[in-house]
Amino acid sequence: MKKILVTGGAGFLGSHLCEKLLNEGNEVICLDNYFTGRKSNIVHLLDHPYFELIRHDITAPFYIELDEIYNLACPASPIHYQYNPIKTVKTSVMGTINMLGLAKRIRAKMLQASTSEVYGDPTVHPQHEEYWGNVNPIGVRSCYDEGKRCAETLCFDYHRQNNVRIKVIRIFNTYGPRMHPNDGRVISNFIVQALKNEDITIYGSGDQTRSFCYCDDMIKAMIAMMNTGDEVIGPINVGNPDEFTIRQLAELIISLVGSRSKIVYLPLVEDDPMQRQPVIDKAKQILNWAPTVPLKEGLLQTIAYFDRELSQ
Ligand code: NAD
Ligand code: UDP
Repeated sequence: MKKILVTGGAGFLGSHLCEKLLNEGNEVICLDNYFTGRKSNIVHLLDHPYFELIRHDITAPFYIELDEIYNLACPASPIHYQYNPIKTVKTSVMGTINMLGLAKRIRAKMLQASTSEVYGDPTVHPQHEEYWGNVNPIGVRSCYDEGKRCAETLCFDYHRQNNVRIKVIRIFNTYGPRMHPNDGRVISNFIVQALKNEDITIYGSGDQTRSFCYCDDMIKAMIAMMNTGDEVIGPINVGNPDEFTIRQLAELIISLVGSRSKIVYLPLVEDDPMQRQPVIDKAKQILNWAPTVPLKEGLLQTIAYFDRELSQ
């Protein structure tokens, strides 16, 4: 049995990860400040004898003895990370320093949840890990993008300087049950709007693309990455390479929900990346992993979840 820390464990991905790690027979400590996470995401785990929930903000040091750290704490939706951008930078920079410092002291392995946002508005398509990105350092998304880039830098410097065992994955847009209904990301917005027969809000022309990965696939990739040998440090892209325009996504969700919603076009948000698709050759080769859930199937699961949430 391993003792594992999951920061951001009450969030969307963190809660699925805690559950899977417990089911695999590990002891799990979930740490969260509840900024975007919710107790309801993990309430079903509270009676588990090997699950522990701690309210803590990772910008403050945390002392514990354990084997592995999954560092997921950080708001992921543009609305939430732009709400208090200075705090977003602190979470990625000071928070990651605290977790790397912990990993160094107790010789634990640490997986860093990085992001496709490190590529910014990419001029190389699809995005492979050697691409350094096209990021605005002073824009409204920079608190997240540059924060996550600096977190990667810290991981590699702790590795080079202190031999900390790091695992960096770059997560591309991931969706599924337990996303917050007010999360503000495109899939949750469109499904909630469709279920309520409200206007579907496309920002810009809807020609921008994203590639959406279902949460169950992503959790498998995270655990596969953590279980690699010490020589595997990343960064490794993880995501589903099936690419869709935002307009295609809106139309698909309207038809799957059977909604009367109309599409409306609002101004494009600042620095919105125009295209995004991961090259996942490394994940396939090194992690022996590939996504298995097609968008339609994952959307049906997610629609069923939001339907339950909205009827409560
Ligand atoms: P989320 O907002 O649901 O989860 C983030 C969790 O971190 C929340 O529970 C929040 O309360 C917690 N948190 C935030 N700041 C904290 C702090 N200072 N101290 C302690 N806890 C804090 O988002 P998610 O989609 O589950 O994302 C999880 C991680 O994966 C994030 O690091 C995110 O950047 C990364 N990621 C997610 C996606 C995606 O599409 N879901 C894509 C790329 C990267
Ligand atoms: N988007 C949209 N309508 C919404 C929410 C988002 O058209 O109600 C667009 C957004 O402009 C972006 C894409 O959907 O082009 C994905 O946005 P999201 O916030 O989910 O993720 P990110 O931009 O971080 O990939």
